[in-house]
Amino acid sequence: MRLTHIKLAGFKSFVDPTTIPVPGQRVGVVGPNGCGKSNVIDAVRWVLGESRARELRGESMQDVIFSGSATRKAVSRASVELIFDNSLGKAAGQWSQYAEISVKRVLTRSGESSYHINNLHVRRRDITDIFLGTGLGARAYAIIEQGMISRIIEARPEELRVFLEEAAGISKYKERRRETELR
Ligand code: ATP
Ligand code: MG
Repeated sequence: MRLTHIKLAGFKSFVDPTTIPVPGQRVGVVGPNGCGKSNVIDAVRWVLGESRARELRGESMQDVIFSGSATRKAVSRASVELIFDNSLGKAAGQWSQYAEISVKRVLTRSGESSYHINNLHVRRRDITDIFLGTGLGARAYAIIEQGMISRIIEARPEELRVFLEEAAGISKYKERRRETELR
């Protein structure tokens, strides 16, 4: 699966509907300080199911919704959609048959939250499921942020093991076991 487009609306500084194409294997995002580069990465992690506002540089989850600027009023809804090329059919389970997969998250100021895959209403878990074992989870190693390298170097062995298990594809089964034990 390869990310081809990021579509944002009402998310952080991206108040108007914006489509960001990801045209190749290597893409650079450049721009002056404060123009919204990190917000794009926050958007990707948000769709993948990030549940801690602090990880997205906010205090509450509603902080991802455009809160207004000198010239624009605040909006009441944020949505981010990631479009993946799945022409190789690598997506897990029932989704493998689709050539393109859209993964979307929506949040309103009143606190209504929803997740969608190919416009079907799904649970947050269904989103994390697609990406478990691919390294592309909200807190997996596909996104390496400022400070993360030193966090990994200084990590305790049991924290490091989480990364190794994700790379080895075991985390998916551990998550399944955890869920079974909770039932
Ligand atoms: P730097 O080069 O300094 O890392 P950057 O390009 O990564 O900058 P971001 O951190 O992505 O910049 O964007 C910061 C901007 O996003 C700030 O101007 C901030 O006001 C704006 N912003 C963040 N959240 C919201 C929100 N909820 N509503 C409106 N604007 C927001
Ligand atoms: Mg930044």
